[in-house]
Order: sequence, then C-alpha cells, then structure tokens
Amino acid sequence: MRKFDFYNPTKLIFGQGTLEALKTEVPKYGKNVLLMYGGGSIKRSGLYDKVMAELSAIDAVVTELSGVEPNPRLSTVHKGVELCHEHNIDLILAVGGGSVLDCAKAVAVGAKYEGDMWDFVERKAAAQDALPLGTVLTMAATGSEMNSGSVITNEVTKEKMGWGSIHAFPAFSILDPENTFTLPRDQTVYGMVDIMSHVLEHYFHTDGNTPVQDGFCETLLRTVIETAPKLIEDLNNYELRETIMYCGTMALNGMVSMGFAGDWATHNIEHAVSAVYDIPHGGGLAILFPQWMKYNIDTDPARFRKLAVNVFGVDPAGKNDKEIGLEGIEALRNFWDSIGAPKTLADYDIDDSEIGSMADKAVRFGPFGNFRKLDREDVVEIYKMAL
Ligand code: NAP
Ligand code: FE
Repeated sequence: MRKFDFYNPTKLIFGQGTLEALKTEVPKYGKNVLLMYGGGSIKRSGLYDKVMAELSAIDAVVTELSGVEPNPRLSTVHKGVELCHEHNIDLILAVGGGSVLDCAKAVAVGAKYEGDMWDFVERKAAAQDALPLGTVLTMAATGSEMNSGSVITNEVTKEKMGWGSIHAFPAFSILDPENTFTLPRDQTVYGMVDIMSHVLEHYFHTDGNTPVQDGFCETLLRTVIETAPKLIEDLNNYELRETIMYCGTMALNGMVSMGFAGDWATHNIEHAVSAVYDIPHGGGLAILFPQWMKYNIDTDPARFRKLAVNVFGVDPAGKNDKEIGLEGIEALRNFWDSIGAPKTLADYDIDDSEIGSMADKAVRFGPFGNFRKLDREDVVEIYKMAL
C-alpha cells in the first residue's frame, strides 16, 4: 500500500423517506437556495413537488436553475455562478443524477472564485473555497454524491474533463432508492456499467499488497453482476434499487480504494469520446473498458487472473494467467451484452474519422494511467479496437 490520508466529510442520509431531512439540513446553511436540476425527470416523477414542499416548510427562498444537460456544460456552470451572485445564495441543492451534481459542484467553487471556473479544470488554479452543496440523488452511477470529483464539458472547445477539489464534497447527500424507480432501463444499465467501471479502475493498480481492498472491490462487482439482471426486469424493486444505490456510492467515495492509486485511463479515454459525440458516459465505458483490458493484460496477467477467478468464476485449471484473464474479460463483455450495454463505437454510429482528435484530447495533460502509462499511440489503438 501507499501512505494515505482518508478524508470524506459528506453526510450520507440513506433510505426510504429521507427527503424530509431537507428540513433539518438546509437551515444549517441559510435561507437562499439555488435548486439545480436536469431536463425535467424530477418534474415528471413528482420529486420536484416534494422537494419544493420541504423547502417551503422551512421558508427557504428558492432560485431555480433547470435544464442541466447530461454531460453538463460550462455555459450552464456560468449561469449558475451568476445566479449565486445575483441571489446571494447560501446553499446549492442539486436534485438529479451525476450530471446535475457535477455541475452543481462546479457552480459551488465558481461562485467563490473571481476568474472562470474552467481554470480549475485546466489545472491553471486550484479552488480555495466553495458554497455549501446538498444533493438529492436520482440515479445510481457516478458516486458524485459522496466524492470530490466532477466532470464538465466545454462545448466551445469540445473538451470534457474531470477535476476535483476538497471543497467540492457535498455537505450532505440524500439517497432514497425510491427516487431512482423512474430511471429508465437503458440509463439504469449505464449507471451499473459506470459503477462497475469505477471498481475496475481501482482494481488495476500497482501499489502492491491490498487484499482487503481487492475483496471489497470483488464483492461490489459480484453484487452488481447478481443484481443487474433482476433489476432490469423489475425497475420498481426497492431492495434491488437500494443495493445498486449503495454500490454506486461505495464504488467511488474512497472507502474501497485506500492505500493505492487506481488506473483511471479508461475514464479519460471515454471522456474524449463523449466530448466529441455527447454519448452517455456508461455507454462509452461499456465499449472501451474491455478493450483497455485486452490491450493491457500483459502488464500484470496475475491481476487479470484474480479478477477472472474471483468475480467471474473462471475455472483456472490447466491454463496460464493470461488465458484465464482473457476468459474473465470475455465474461465481463458477455455480462454487459446480457444487460443490453453497447459493445462497439459503431453502436453510436461513431467511425474512425475523429480518432486522432479524440486521442489528442485524451493526452491533453500528457501520458496517463497509473496501471500502465498510455501515450497517444496507445489511445489510438484502443479506439481502433473499439470500432
Ligand atoms: P446523468 O447524465 O446525470 O443522467 C442521465 C439521464 O438520466 C438524464 O437524461 C436524466 O434526466 C435521467 N435521469 C436521472 N435520474 C432519473 C430518474 N430518477 N428518473 C428518470 N430519469 C432520470 O447520468 P449520470 O450517469 O449520473 O452522470 C453522468 C455524468 O457524470 C457524466 O458527465 C460523467 O462523465 C460524469 N461522471 C462523474 C463522476 C464523478 O465522480 N463526479 C464519475 C463518473 C462519471 P433529467 O436530466 O431530466 O433529470
Ligand atoms: Fe464514471
């Protein structure tokens, strides 16, 4: 293991009926609330009315920013920052999936910064402060509800990049699995692919002895694999939604990844695709992760073997580590096929025409990936394998 500090200040409020915690949490920060949400799913589901009822019960003064896009855009962040200044906002309340939460994090730090928040994404400056942020999660996927990361798309330069700050942790996050019942089957699948991908990003590291962490990761993966086929046939099942929601938070709140640095190349490679084509993050990961795995199996075949045997139940008898590892990758691909996740870039009508520019975006900050450093040529190869 590496030396590590663990810090996670987010208060997690989990379970049925927990929305009422807004009444006690919001007043801790003040009266003026910026309510951020997406393209209308919370209006259709009735969650918007419930949130407004809680806020009116405590006489909060609510300003709204709706229409936060999936793959949230910098221009929307700018609108949010303006609203914070104009209405003297005390607390941002993000109600939605990872995109709304990520956008809200960017607004929270942007409101306390004189320059353009994009400076943080470009690593030109580091956030020093933020408005407090509360969240009500409606989609299990990103872990954004309990982490300090965010991904923003600059629609002018067509760049999509992650950034993070200790100031971006939500102060509180309310997770009621019932608020995910209305999530359609395809988005539910994308969410589960994202969750599994976060665990896989952790799993491929080179920091040595992590038996407990490996076991946590394997349990999360096995749990999603067991739960997903049932959930896609029974979208209103509380216990299945609850299991996946808990997996989503645990997969990326730092709890299972203490003491090592995961790889994270595949997320970077995917962000460059969704920057250009605006595809769902989980869909892109389903296409790219198995290709990244095949491309990198020789870096540490024993690691791939461990995953194959412990998660996918591959029988190791009479085979070498690489053969076993390749069977594990095949099993992952078959599992994602079985729940309807996309398989190739062609599934999104993406051909080879932008591979060069996507690879340029992916290597924007130089070679990347902690398990194995990838340069531009490696990224081009992985895109080609994914066509
Ligand atoms: P999302 O983009 O937030 O939402 C996807 C779609 O699902 C939206 O159209 C949304 O509609 C809809 N939706 C959400 N909840 C719903 C519900 N309960 N019922 C019906 N529809 C619902 O999806 P996401 O996967 O959570 O977030 C993806 C973004 O997060 C990407 O930009 C990705 O790169 C980023 N990401 C962040 C992290 C992190 O750590 N911060 C990690 C991985 C990925 P509405 O807009 O109408 O609500
Ligand atoms: Fe992700």
